[in-house]
Amino acid sequence: MVDRYREHVQPSPLRDAIACLRCGGVSDLLLVPHDRHGGPPGEVRVCTSAVCGIGFTWPVRGDVSAAPAAGEMGGIGAVVASRMAAASVAPLANALGPGSLVVDVGAGTGLRAKALADRGFDVVVIEPDPVEVMRATAHLADTSAQVVRAGVHELGDVMGARRADAVVLWHVLEHLDDLGDALRRVSEVTRDGGMLSVAVPNRGSLEARVFGDSWHAWEPSRHRWHFDERSLRLVLGEAGFSVEEISPRGGWGYPSSLAFSLAPGLDPQVNPGRGVAGRTLAAAMIPAALGARAAGRGSQLVTLARRT
Ligand SMILES: [Zn+2]
Repeated sequence: MVDRYREHVQPSPLRDAIACLRCGGVSDLLLVPHDRHGGPPGEVRVCTSAVCGIGFTWPVRGDVSAAPAAGEMGGIGAVVASRMAAASVAPLANALGPGSLVVDVGAGTGLRAKALADRGFDVVVIEPDPVEVMRATAHLADTSAQVVRAGVHELGDVMGARRADAVVLWHVLEHLDDLGDALRRVSEVTRDGGMLSVAVPNRGSLEARVFGDSWHAWEPSRHRWHFDERSLRLVLGEAGFSVEEISPRGGWGYPSSLAFSLAPGLDPQVNPGRGVAGRTLAAAMIPAALGARAAGRGSQLVTLARRT
C-alpha cells in the first residue's frame, strides 16, 4: 500500500532532501518552528513524509528530557486538572469490564491513573521521570495502583506474565525515539482484543493552521513526531491495532496548547517561575479549546484502538 502511494506522489518545489525518520521515504519541508526550549533559531525543521504522512522534527535532539516535570499544583488548578484527567480516560473506562488491568505508560503525575483507579480498575503506572514518579506515588497512595519508574522499553520486564486489558499512551507517542519498537512492546503486553487509548497533538488542527510556525505543540525540542489523523491511523495499524475511533473531539481539548501559543513565556516547562499564571491562563482557554474541539478541529487527536 505504501509503495502504491509513493508512485502517486507528485514532485513538489518544497521537496526536502531529508528522508523520513520513520519509513525512509522522501519528505517535504512543512515549516521552521519557533523553539522556546533553547534550540538554536532557524536550524530545526518540521518535515512531513510524502510516503507515510508522518511529520517529524529534524534534526533529532538527544539532549533534552522528553517532558520535564511541571511544577506541583494546588487549589483550583489541581481540581481542574483532575476533572480533565477523568474526562480524558472516560471513553476507555466505559469500554472496559470491572477489574480490568490498565497500564498508563508515561503517566506523568498519575492524574489519569488516579481517575482509573477510582473507577475500580487495577492500574500499573510506568513513568521514566523520577520527579513525576514521586508525585504519582503520592497521588496514588490511597489506591492499589502499582507505580514503577521505567521507560516503554522496559514494559515487558514490568509486566512479566501479566497481560493488560488496556494501555494508555496520553501525549507519549510524539516523544518516542522509535515509534515502531515502542508500539511493538505495547502490543506484546496487551491481551488479544485489549484496548489502546492514545492522545497526541493534532497537526491538522485549527490552532496549528492559525499559529503556523508559532504553534506551541510543535515543541521541536521534545516532540519528534507530528501526527494528523491519517498518519496516526497508519502507525497504529502497522503495530497491529485496529482504530475504532479517532477524533479531535476527545476530553476537554488541549487548552494548554492554545494558552502557550498565545503566551509562550507562561509555559511552566519553559519558565517554571510562571507556573501558576500559565495554568490559570490554560484553564481560561478551556472554553475556546472546547469550541475548536466541537467544530472537529481540536488541537489533539484522541483515539481508541483494539489489538487485533
Ligand atoms: Zn515516513
